[in-house]
Amino acid sequence: MEKVECVVIGAGVIGLAIARRLAQAGREVIVLEAAEGIGTVTSSRNSEVIHAGIYYKAGSLMARMCVGGKRALYRYCRDHGVPHRNCGKLIVATTPQESEKLAAIKSHAEANGVDDLQELDGEAARALEPALRCEAALLSPSTGIIDSHAYMLALRGDAEDAGAAFAFHTPVLGARAHDDRIELDVGGNPPMSLACRLLVNAAGLQAPAVARSIDGMPIELIPPAYLAKGNYFSCSARAPFSHLIYPVPEPGGLGVHLTLDMAGQARFGPDVEWVDRIDYAVDPARAERFYPAIRRYWPSLPDGALMPSYSGMRPKIVPPAVAVQDFLIQGPGIHGVDGLINLFGIESPGLTSSLSIADHVGDLAGISTALASQPI
Ligand SMILES: Cc1cc2nc3c(=O)[nH]c(=O)nc-3n(C[C@H](O)[C@H](O)[C@H](O)COP(=O)(O)OP(=O)(O)OC[C@H]3O[C@@H](n4cnc5c(N)ncnc54)[C@H](O)[C@@H]3O)c2cc1C
Repeated sequence: MEKVECVVIGAGVIGLAIARRLAQAGREVIVLEAAEGIGTVTSSRNSEVIHAGIYYKAGSLMARMCVGGKRALYRYCRDHGVPHRNCGKLIVATTPQESEKLAAIKSHAEANGVDDLQELDGEAARALEPALRCEAALLSPSTGIIDSHAYMLALRGDAEDAGAAFAFHTPVLGARAHDDRIELDVGGNPPMSLACRLLVNAAGLQAPAVARSIDGMPIELIPPAYLAKGNYFSCSARAPFSHLIYPVPEPGGLGVHLTLDMAGQARFGPDVEWVDRIDYAVDPARAERFYPAIRRYWPSLPDGALMPSYSGMRPKIVPPAVAVQDFLIQGPGIHGVDGLINLFGIESPGLTSSLSIADHVGDLAGISTALASQPI
């Protein structure tokens, strides 16, 4: 049986960041990926926003890793020439009742270490974005956008430079945990078995299923898997905004917001649609809910301007009735299986947090703090 020190399952942004982290610490790493290339699943079906870290529950992994990950990501983009733009975002209140909520959002953000939010009255907000209709707004200067594929290519390049290997069309089918190793059954052409000392399950939407296929992993510690689809609509009219525009959040979601891609093209979404199976088609009828929501802050959105675009699936580990979830990262201290690290529920802000998540996995894998604190 082939032997390798570390196996990372999944070449999404999380698996790539972890492979880079482990390889740069001198570990022997192979990344096993079921698809034909890097980042073909959730990592290429998102908003590409570098989030500030405003809304997450104080003290949660999401809050901590988003704020730390954001700083590391901006630094990484600058150092590696990854296209990104620190465009900022406006959270807009369109009624007096919503205006009253802005102060609470600001103090929640401060508890998360996001201390740069600025309160603006309607006039000041319109000085930044003349097409905006709002009573008041919060400006988040540290929010930005990133070319996520260029970022993933840079992570892969770093990992390979440090000796990591990649195998595509190579699904992990199952595994058995032993005292000193984990043995993997791997599909592909030809199928093979592989033994490793460290197995990182970064399989995204499939992470709970992969964990269930590992003989020795306590089943009661594997979370259930739910899918919350997020649909996007693009805008055929030129959207006259240079900041990302978010409404004041409503219970259960961030509201229909406007994000921009690196080419300046506006898109609206994602909404939240709980589904039972993966189907990325966007139902054009959902646009009917988008128009009134967008016109609250952009009244001149033309009729017929919204076109179905793409969708992504949030890897939920809590059911719809539970509004909040956190990243769930399990090492041997939690599940008792030596050499196994599972990453569950890595939904937004996973892209922003990816470098922090990789450092955290490095810590769980016993990479020394001295290495972890080296400049990224
Ligand atoms: C609608 C939406 C919008 C989002 N917007 C943002 C945003 O603006 N900013 C932000 O920070 N985050 C955002 N996110 C979150 C971010 O996209 C995810 O956190 C991140 O992409 C997760 O990466 P991943 O590597 O865990 O998963 P994935 O990208 O899904 O990668 C997992 C990989 O594992 C592979 N795999 C699965 N099973 C196996 C197997 N058995 N064997 C081998 N390989 C396997 C898959 O093929 C896949 O390539 C958003 C998410 C969604 C759904």
